[in-house]
Amino acid sequence: MSATTGDLPFPKNYASELLTFERGAGIYVEDTDGTQYLDLGAGIAVNALGYGRLDLAEIAHDQMQKLIHVSNLYTTRPALDLGRALIASTPSTQGKRFAAVHFGNSGAEANESALKYARLYAAATRGPEHHRFLTFSNGFHGRTMGSLSVTANAKYRTKFEPLVPGVEVAAFNDPEALESVLDESFAGVIVEVVQGEGGLRVMTREFARALNELTAKYDVMLIGDEIQTGLARTGFLYGAEAVGLEPDIVSLSKPLAGGLPLSATLIPAKVNDILHVGDHGSTFGGGPVTTAVARRVWDIVSDLEFLAQVRLTAEHLEQGLARLVERFDFITGTRGLGMLRGLEVATPEDQTAEIMSRILAVARENGLLILKSGGNIIRIAPPLVITADEIDRGLGLLEVTLSHIAQEFKGVLA
Ligand code: PLP
Repeated sequence: MSATTGDLPFPKNYASELLTFERGAGIYVEDTDGTQYLDLGAGIAVNALGYGRLDLAEIAHDQMQKLIHVSNLYTTRPALDLGRALIASTPSTQGKRFAAVHFGNSGAEANESALKYARLYAAATRGPEHHRFLTFSNGFHGRTMGSLSVTANAKYRTKFEPLVPGVEVAAFNDPEALESVLDESFAGVIVEVVQGEGGLRVMTREFARALNELTAKYDVMLIGDEIQTGLARTGFLYGAEAVGLEPDIVSLSKPLAGGLPLSATLIPAKVNDILHVGDHGSTFGGGPVTTAVARRVWDIVSDLEFLAQVRLTAEHLEQGLARLVERFDFITGTRGLGMLRGLEVATPEDQTAEIMSRILAVARENGLLILKSGGNIIRIAPPLVITADEIDRGLGLLEVTLSHIAQEFKGVLA
């Protein structure tokens, strides 16, 4: 069943027709009519462990019976346990370590925190005039005013300007552009390893090296936005590991608490050392229920065997997608990394939006949920627990969908 415009109590910034879901199990989610959908989008890269996780539900249930909220004036055992596990981890091979974690409730909030910490550090060490931020073309960092300020795409930001001043945009994956713009007047550089919303371009190793060297040279905080790429999505615990990025600060969210709202901003000792009580905070961030569930998620996704399995399944996914590129002339290539993958759709520019929304709609009619990235990329971000057989089933539905689209847009598509 889908709810339509008249019935929806939501603002018009959401679609006018929404499927109404009731329950899920594994990689399937079921609507109120009992129709099942194979989900290759995982609730926009959130449901990494799949639907119907009774283990997570039980942890939440037990914790809710004990304690739901205490505020940041106090703490709880689940928050301490998760915090300690997170700061003991690192994507760095060069000895960079985290010293503390700030818990929030969403990806945008995690990035807000990262930006604020970077500013505090720059102001404390070099003076408040060193406050600028550098971000990259096609990057996406959230929709709050601060995170939107470092989101380059005009589509998201123009209507809300003026935004936070002092933000520069440089070309993604262009070390020379980076070198020509970065200096010590910046407080932070924020970047994704794979541009999840902006077209699934993957950071090159060369660009990662330039980011590492230049931010170190000017003591500018390198902020890795791992909200979509973190927690095993790329086949590595941190996407940064896949390309050799050495972030000082990392933002995590989406899959962190198995679908409950939680984010984590990981900061190094040198930032933590200049903070004062009251510099930052959050009422709900890091409550005992979300952190108890997240601890279980963390134990699963940080397991080396789990990560190896994700890399194997991701290879299978990549091979399946490559076959679709061979099969359809209007599918011109693959993008992405690990279990965050995409297919490029070649369309006449004035019909891109229409064709992409038809692809998603026809997929839905075929019982398949997929996502979009950038203007013309089909995004696949399945639950990480998906099997090779389930991937084949999902890609089979995608093939049927693309055949339908080829017919529907005959003469328009290659
Ligand atoms: N950063 C990245 C890389 C994201 O993909 C997203 C969401 O898609 C965000 C930030 C914002 O997260 P949220 O929607 O939880 O605020």
